[in-house]
Amino acid sequence: MYEPYPVPDLAHEHKKFRYSNLWTFAKQDLRLLAFLFIIGGFIGLGTGYFWICILVAFAVFFSLQLRSLYLVNEWISNRPYDAPPNLDGIWGALLFNVYRAQRQERIVQAEMVGLIDRAQSSLIALTEAVILTDELHQIEWWNPAAEALLGIQPQDRGRNILTIIRQPDFFEYFNHIDDSPDGIKIQSSVFEENYVQIKLTRFGSESRLLLAYDVTRIHNLEQMRKDFVDNISHELRTPLTVLSGYIETFTDQEDLNPRWKRAFEQMQSQTRRMNALVNDLLLLSRLEGNRQIAKNQIIEMPDLMNQLFDDAQAYNVDYGHTLNLEIDSHCDLIGSDTELASAFSNLITNAIKYTPRGGTITIGWHDDGEHAYFSVEDTGIGIDPRHLPRLTERFYRVDSDRSRQTGGTGLGLAIVKHVLMQHNAWLDVESRENCGSTFKAIFPRERLYYVD
Ligand code: ADP
Repeated sequence: MYEPYPVPDLAHEHKKFRYSNLWTFAKQDLRLLAFLFIIGGFIGLGTGYFWICILVAFAVFFSLQLRSLYLVNEWISNRPYDAPPNLDGIWGALLFNVYRAQRQERIVQAEMVGLIDRAQSSLIALTEAVILTDELHQIEWWNPAAEALLGIQPQDRGRNILTIIRQPDFFEYFNHIDDSPDGIKIQSSVFEENYVQIKLTRFGSESRLLLAYDVTRIHNLEQMRKDFVDNISHELRTPLTVLSGYIETFTDQEDLNPRWKRAFEQMQSQTRRMNALVNDLLLLSRLEGNRQIAKNQIIEMPDLMNQLFDDAQAYNVDYGHTLNLEIDSHCDLIGSDTELASAFSNLITNAIKYTPRGGTITIGWHDDGEHAYFSVEDTGIGIDPRHLPRLTERFYRVDSDRSRQTGGTGLGLAIVKHVLMQHNAWLDVESRENCGSTFKAIFPRERLYYVD
């Protein structure tokens, strides 16, 4: 624990100096010199050796100055933190000024160290882990919570943090901090069932501050929610299949009473909606769980675009829009074809659904060497900008009634977001109410495959 430097009480020891200008101190020396000259002069006149006595008087004065110089040098070299020797004249003034500057500096230093000590004590008291690393990524300092949460040991001082927290996700995050502004969640290396959220901040040239806190409870709750949705969707699937089978059989019967026919048709459309909902929920939970996704297939984009365009034309029969296809990129995509096809088709069906009859929908594939863009532009109802930040949330709808009428589940864009996230891609939406929207899926360079 830090002991502050004792700060000497200057005023007590050097009261007589107080604040005076240099001339005041020089006068003491001049008085002494004059005194010695007068004594020497008298003795010289009495003995007849005037100049010799004056010389002796000067030699005495000079020796006294040398003695003072010796004492000053001895103090500065050997005992700088002790009170300075008590000297008169300009040497005394010099000592006083040096001592005062030194004392001032020590007060500032003591304050600084006190402040650092307080900051350090508060970091030590934190339940969040704090680790400081230098430009070479070596651990410089950490608090006790870092030992409990991340298993940092005293012998880890000076070791590269990437050799201690060895998870690939952490390695990726450490080298690309800006890609994950909220940090990342990793499994604790101390207790396997625990999870910690890690957030890194760059400072100085390449030093980093790591903050980590326990998110096991939130993780478990999140997992419970996912499992619940997953299980309930699975459980609903079988009864729904049975119900829709029977309803379809009855609806198709020729001799069905017209009153019942309408009821059966409504039942059929509702079970279809429920089926779509259950399927979307299952897909979403699979995407969230990051399971069974092959993300390294080479997807031939011209083929996929043509297939999407054909599907769009089939879906468009009831809407009568003009559909355009624009492909001006030669690059293919690396990823999962089924997942991407489902995300792209969600964007296309939305554009068709949310555009009043007779609109224009343009489906495009472009690239600029750095990024590739899958885009769907419509001349539809558009979206008020205040809805845009929440658009990819589950069940978020701008207009619930309209969405239900069009058979939407409210999960389409959530699925799109997850599929894109798994391909390191993101969604960009531009829209103006009553003018139309453009949805763009933007893929980074590492996801592009250029055909020679
Ligand atoms: P839904 O199944 O309801 O279509 P989505 O997640 O696909 O759910 O879309 C969320 C909401 O975003 C929709 O309810 C709709 O209000 C709005 N939206 C999506 N695409 C468009 C579009 N092309 N034009 C206007 N609104 C759209």
